[in-house]
Order: sequence, then C-alpha cells, then structure tokens
Amino acid sequence: MGPGPSDVSPRVLAALARPTIGHLDPLFVSLMDDIKLLLQYAFQTKNELTLPVSAPGSAGMEACFVNLLSPGDTAIVCQNGVFGGRMRENVERCGATAIMVEDEWGSPVDPEKVQKALRDHPQASVLAFVHAETSTGTRSDAATLCKLAKEHDALVIMDTVTSLGGIELKVDEWGADAVYSGSQKCLSCVPGISPVTFSPKAVERIQARTHKVQSWFLDMQLVMGYWGGSSKRAYHHTAPVNAMYALHETLVMLEEEGLENAIARHHRNHLALVAGLEAMGLSMAVDEAWRLPQLNLVCIPEGVDDAAVRTRLLRDFDLEIGAGLGALAGKTWRIGLMGHASRERNVILCLNALETALHAEGHNVESGAALRAAEDFYKSTSN
Ligand SMILES: *Cc1c(COP(=O)(O)O)cnc(C)c1O
Repeated sequence: MGPGPSDVSPRVLAALARPTIGHLDPLFVSLMDDIKLLLQYAFQTKNELTLPVSAPGSAGMEACFVNLLSPGDTAIVCQNGVFGGRMRENVERCGATAIMVEDEWGSPVDPEKVQKALRDHPQASVLAFVHAETSTGTRSDAATLCKLAKEHDALVIMDTVTSLGGIELKVDEWGADAVYSGSQKCLSCVPGISPVTFSPKAVERIQARTHKVQSWFLDMQLVMGYWGGSSKRAYHHTAPVNAMYALHETLVMLEEEGLENAIARHHRNHLALVAGLEAMGLSMAVDEAWRLPQLNLVCIPEGVDDAAVRTRLLRDFDLEIGAGLGALAGKTWRIGLMGHASRERNVILCLNALETALHAEGHNVESGAALRAAEDFYKSTSN
C-alpha cells in the first residue's frame, strides 16, 4: 500500500506466464489491436496514436516531451511535487526553455498562475502538468488547465501515471494532447510499460517537425511503423511480449469492472480509510477537495518515529506504506489504495496494523476506534 507498484492480481500474473510468441506473430498483432482499443477506453479517447511504450512511466514522460518540443521552444511547466521537476529536466534536455509555475507541495496547481504565465509568455507552445501528484497525494484541476492552454494555443502534456484507472480522466473531453501513464499504479499491472496517447493536433506537430527527435527509441514517427495504423507492421523493437499479455489482462479486467465502477471503488475505500484514520486521531495533509483517493497523504503525529512505524508495518504485517518526500519527509506517510490493492480488506488491515504499530511505538490511540469507524462507513454505504 505504497505509491506503486501496487498489488498485481493473480489473473494478471497468470497471463504473464503464457508462452512467449513473436512480436510480429499474427496472434500478437491482434493482441496489440485489442490493447489499443482498451487503452482508448481507459483514457476516454478516440486518438489513433494510442499505444503502450515498452518502458516505464518515465519513458512515457520523455516520449511526450521529445516528440512535441524542439530546440528553442518554450514550455510552461507546473511544479507542485517531485514529478513536475522531472518535466523541467525533460524540457531543458530538449534544448527548450522551461517557464516554471510553482505551487506548494500538497496544493494543486493554481490555474491563475498558469493563466498569467501563458499571458506573459505567448510564445509557449506547450503547457505541462501532473494530474495526480503521487509525491503529495494531490489532484489538480486538469479540465481547467487544458482549457487555459487551448485559449493560448498551447498543446497540453499531462502526466496521468497515478490517475489512469483511479480517478476521472477524460482525455478527449478535456482536450489534452500528449498524455502518458504507467502500468503499475491504478492499473495494477507489472511495472515497465507506459501507455501514451497523442491527439490529432499533437500528431500534426510531430509530423511537421524539422528537427529530428533526439531519442531514436522514443521517436513516435518510427514507433508508429510498429504500433500505429492498420497497415503492415514493421519491426522497430522487440515488444516485451509477456508484459503485454499482462497489460492486456489488466485492461480486460478494467473493462469488465467498468471504468466508472473502478473509480467509485477507489473513492469508497479512500473514504473508509480516512474515516478510520481520523477516528484514530490522525489528520490528512491535503485539502479534502484535492485529495487523491488512490494515494493518501497522512500527517505523522507529533513525537512518532516515521521510519520505526514503517519498519514495524513491514516486519510484522507484511505491509508497505510510503514515506513522505521532499519537505514532507518525516512529516507524512503516503498510503496507497491503488487498483487491485483498493479493497476493503486492505483498508481494515492497514488501520489495524497502524494502530498496533503506533501503540508499540508508545503513541496511544483509542483501541478499535479506527476499525469501528471504517466498518460503520462500509455498512452505511453498502447496497
Ligand atoms: C510513478 C510516477 C512516474 C514515473 O513512473 P515510472 O514507471 O517509475 O518510471 C511519473 N509520474 C508520476 C506522477 C508517477 O507517480
């Protein structure tokens, strides 16, 4: 129950063990077609250029930046946590200029600051932001940020590594242009794959490039020859065939459950966890309106040893939770309820384990209060 990788379901693990076939085998090619359709569903998009990059989320991030930016370009980059900083690195390594819009870690990106940056830098061709900051458990208002970018003719690069499958994400309705995600957060697949999707406008920009993409592997014009379109597929790289079986199974499971139901499940388990934590006397670190249900930032009570509690959880309960990052290190925990791990039994296990570990560390909380609050919540919302 950390910030990912999340628990992988036995069904997905079993898919991994299917016999390896060729990356151009007709059966594999039809699996690729299926994956594309299922990813379009997950992203809520009709984008033709929708595919899984054969590498982790960071490669999906890099794919978006290197394909949309050329040397001399300007991008506005929002930072309210760890991953916005990586976006800046990507922009600068493309030879472009990053105009930073900074917000406190644990707060959402402020649309007014973005509006001002877009006005002050009319040459900016890209607005980049993180929809769900895993480092702080904070959501930003993606719909509003996309709208602002449109008004200023900038394309949107959006990080949805932690949002895909966990909270509402509407690529087409919002008008995001280059969107990347990861396999190991709310999709609960094995790590190492990065779903991406590019809007027709982004594809136009890519096709109009005069400067070669600096990365051969991530150059979408080349990758399209293997993953794109309905015409003949040509070898570009050897796809991680078994990992793609796993991704396919994950996406089939998402479709079976239904995107809306998966999102509602994340929300419900989050509310139960919060009810329990608050009954235990702990407080949440992010404003209610911007909390991520899949990644819960909890304040560590005064005088409690952060690492000692986490060590007890791991040693005595086989339970991993995440540490705080940056300025939030030592002050917060990050409790993940992502994908297959977002279940009632995990909420109960976590509350129980945390109560025991806090007692053992000499921090007194009312015995059983957390469990009662969570159970009451589940009872009051069951159908
Ligand atoms: C995990 C994560 C990434 C990086 O993904 P990797 O698979 O670790 O490369 C990028 N952005 C966000 C918001 C993440 O949570």
